[in-house]
Amino acid sequence: MNSAGTWATVTSGISFSQFENVLGVLDVPAMSKNTFLKKEVEVEKVWLKHIDNALVEAGIEERRLAIEKGDVDDGMPFITVIVDGGWSKRSYGHNYTATSGMAVIIAERTGQLLFLGVRNKYCCICDRATKIGMEAKPHLCYKNWDENKPSTAMEQDINVEGFKMSEKMHGVRYKYFVGDGDSSVYAKLVQNVSYGRTIQKLECANHCIKNYTGHLHKLAADKTFPPDSRKLLKQSIPRLTAAARGAIRHCADEGETVDDSISDLKNWPYHVFGEHAQCRNYFCQKVESNENLKIITNAKLLDEITALVSRLEQKAPRLIKNKTSNAAEFYMSLLAKYNCGKRINLGQRGSFQRRCYVAGSERSCLGTKPI
Ligand SMILES: [Zn+2]
Ligand SMILES: [Zn+2]
Repeated sequence: MNSAGTWATVTSGISFSQFENVLGVLDVPAMSKNTFLKKEVEVEKVWLKHIDNALVEAGIEERRLAIEKGDVDDGMPFITVIVDGGWSKRSYGHNYTATSGMAVIIAERTGQLLFLGVRNKYCCICDRATKIGMEAKPHLCYKNWDENKPSTAMEQDINVEGFKMSEKMHGVRYKYFVGDGDSSVYAKLVQNVSYGRTIQKLECANHCIKNYTGHLHKLAADKTFPPDSRKLLKQSIPRLTAAARGAIRHCADEGETVDDSISDLKNWPYHVFGEHAQCRNYFCQKVESNENLKIITNAKLLDEITALVSRLEQKAPRLIKNKTSNAAEFYMSLLAKYNCGKRINLGQRGSFQRRCYVAGSERSCLGTKPI
């Protein structure tokens, strides 16, 4: 009963006090907080075991698929992974103060979890002992991160650990990775992983297009441009966006080169505004042009749009495979659910860590029922 209650509390994304409240209203006596904490450690072991098995199985499947596709370098199969990370508390931009951080490595092909790491700066038992100037009694300690090191480095550290273990753990190399983290993650991987020099960073195609769309909306709202040109741009945004997304997908599907994708990228605005001289047959056979391009050009909007497109062009070598970080976002949304939407402090006694494991378990199909 107590184990099931603990399981239900953690997997429902609520805290012990909320669980106590629910039982109080129902007039059912609740276990003590201490019992709850003990039970949490017990159920954590079950989740951990499950995740370990799921990681191994996911690795076997990914390795098999890589070999099947012929993705092998120096006798070692290679795959594409997605990396992502998060904090134990709400962050706005950089978060230097979070007590816990986590990161995941997910297989792009199957969407399965391959590695999950958590770093904690704080353990309340150690902390209490330090405050009264005593040595802490032996205890299950969750602290695995030096409190003087910035929390922002946690994600990097976990990623490096995961990449370093890829060959031993799964018999594969993570040759390509998709991640929106800053370039310092990449630099650390190159430096610290034995096959680091062969690792390539890819961009999430969805994020890039979302970014591009956001900038187009800003342009369309900029009143320094004439109203008719802004109206025309606003109407054309869905087509501009779809054309860009389609060009990336096409290049990936057909295995085309970076040059092909760049020439397509450059041509989109012309095509959308009715000038088809440079259009390739696979998406357009039109010949007649219309006045729209003139309106956009005269309003000097074409220059602005071209500048936005050139930002995408710079990313073309990293977009060519049309990869996205969707699978990681799915995990992070699960974590947000179990993490109580970061409303409460879960940094103590491994609570954040447990919720990372629960999200990992659900990701690997354990579901949320006690076993
Ligand atoms: Zn401790
Ligand atoms: Zn066209």
